[in-house]
Amino acid sequence: MTLENITLQTPYLCLDEEFYTLINPQPLDDPYLISFNTDTAKLIDLDSKTCDDPLLTELLNGNFLPKGARPFAMCYAGHQFGNYNPWLGDGRAMNLGKVNGWNLQLKGSGDTLYANGADGRSALPSSIREYLMSEAMFHLGIPTTRALGIIGSKTKISRGRMENAAMVMRLSSSWVRFGSFEYFYYRKEHVKLEALAQYVIKESYPHLRDDEDRFYKLFCEILENTANLISKWQGIGFNHGVMNTDNMSIEGLTIDYGPYAMLDDFNYNYVCNNGDRAGRYSYGEQPNISYWNLTKLSEAFSPLVDKKRMQKKLEDYGAFIFPNAYISVMRKKLGLLEEFDDALLVEELVVALHEAYVDHTLFFRTLSRYDGDRAPLYDISMNPVVIDEWLKLYDKRLEKERRIQAKRQEEMLKTNPKYILKNYMLQEAIEQAQKGDFTGVEKLMFIARHPYDELPEYEKYAQDTPELDKNIGLSCSS
Ligand code: AMP
Ligand code: MG
Repeated sequence: MTLENITLQTPYLCLDEEFYTLINPQPLDDPYLISFNTDTAKLIDLDSKTCDDPLLTELLNGNFLPKGARPFAMCYAGHQFGNYNPWLGDGRAMNLGKVNGWNLQLKGSGDTLYANGADGRSALPSSIREYLMSEAMFHLGIPTTRALGIIGSKTKISRGRMENAAMVMRLSSSWVRFGSFEYFYYRKEHVKLEALAQYVIKESYPHLRDDEDRFYKLFCEILENTANLISKWQGIGFNHGVMNTDNMSIEGLTIDYGPYAMLDDFNYNYVCNNGDRAGRYSYGEQPNISYWNLTKLSEAFSPLVDKKRMQKKLEDYGAFIFPNAYISVMRKKLGLLEEFDDALLVEELVVALHEAYVDHTLFFRTLSRYDGDRAPLYDISMNPVVIDEWLKLYDKRLEKERRIQAKRQEEMLKTNPKYILKNYMLQEAIEQAQKGDFTGVEKLMFIARHPYDELPEYEKYAQDTPELDKNIGLSCSS
C-alpha cells in the first residue's frame, strides 16, 4: 500500500470531548528523513518503496495526513515522583488514527493544550533514542511501542543548549495510561471513567467484552501484564527512569522512552535519570514502583470494582504474581528448565552481580556457554570470588536439570543477547547524526534487530562498556 492509500480510523474520538483535543501538527522547518523502518511499515501494510516517496517526510513532519486522520492529543493525569498532577496529557504528541490495530502518533509535533507552557517539541537526541530503543526492545521480546520513522529539521529548540528539533512517528496498540484513568477518578467523573474502561476493553482486552465481571478482570489482566513487563525489564537490565503513572501503559507496554538505560556493569541501585536524586526509579526499585503504581490504578478503578478484591490481587502481586514472573524470566536466562524453588539462587545471583562489577549483558552471554570452566566468567568480573561462590550454587542446581548441556547452551544463547543498545553506543550515533551522518542510526537499527546473532563486524559492542561511559546518568530534558 502507498501512503495515499492508507485509511485511518479514530475510535478514541467516539469518547467524550473531555478525553482529547483536536489539533493540527505544527510542521518543522526544512525536514529531512533520518530513517524509515521497513519492519514496522509492514505492520501497517506500507510497501518498502515508501522510503522513496517524497510524501514520507511530509507524513513524518505532520504535513501530509493520511485519509481518515483526525489529529488529537489525549488528556491524562498521573503521579509524578509520587505527587499527583491532575493536568498532563500529550503535551507534544498527536495521534493521527488507527490502522491494522496500530495507533499512529507523532511525537514532537508542536504544543497542545496539555503542554503546560513547554514548546511541544522533541530534540534530535531523544528522538533517535526513542526510535532505536523501542525497536531494540521489541527484538528482545519485551512488550513495547514501536517506531515507523524519524525526521530531523532546521528548527532550533532550547534544551539547556540549542538543539535541532525532530519528530518520531510511534505506533502502539494502545496509548492509554494508568494516568488516563486517574484523570477521571480524581475529577469524580465516574461515568467517563467507566466509558474509558469500556473503551480499553473493546480495544485492548476484547475477550472481556461480555464478561459480567469485566472491570475486575480488566484490572487483573493489567496487573499481570505489568508483572510480565517489569520482570522482563529486570531480566534484560533495563532502567526506564521515569515510571510515573502517566508513563505506565494499560497494556503493559514499555512507553515514553526518556532517560532510560541498559545496565552496563550490574548495579542494583543504578539510577539512569539524573533528575531522580532520591533514586525512586532506580533499576532495583522498579518492581516496588510497579506495585505502587498498580495501587494508584486500583484507587482509580475503585468506582468500578470492589476495593477489597483489588487489594487482594495487589497482595498477590507482591506475594507471588510478580515474584513468579521474575523467577521464570531468570530461570530462562539461567537455562533452567525444571521448576524448583529458585528464589535463593536468583537472589544470590543479584548480590553476586552487584558485588562483582561485571557487565550485565556480557555476564549472561558468557554464562550461556558455561561448561564448568569458570575462567571466562572470572575474566570479565572485577571480583571473581563472589562469582565463584554463586557458581557453586548454580552447579548444584544444574545437576537437577535433565536437559543436556549443549541444548541448555543453545537455548541460553537465544535468551541472553549478545547485543543491546547501550547509552554510549546511542550517544555515538547521535553525535554522528548531529553532523548530518545517519549511518550510525542505521547501524544501530541493524544491531537492534539481531540481538542474539554473532556479528563479527560489531564485536566491540558486545564487550564491556568503555570505563568512562559506564552507568552514566541522563537528564530528562529532551
Ligand atoms: P514525559 O515524562 O516525557 O513522559 O512527559 C511528562 C509530561 O510532560 C507529558 O504530559 C508530556 O506530554 C509533557 N512534555 C514533556 N516534554 C514536553 C515538551 N517539550 N512540550 C510539551 N509537553 C511536554
Ligand atoms: Mg510521558
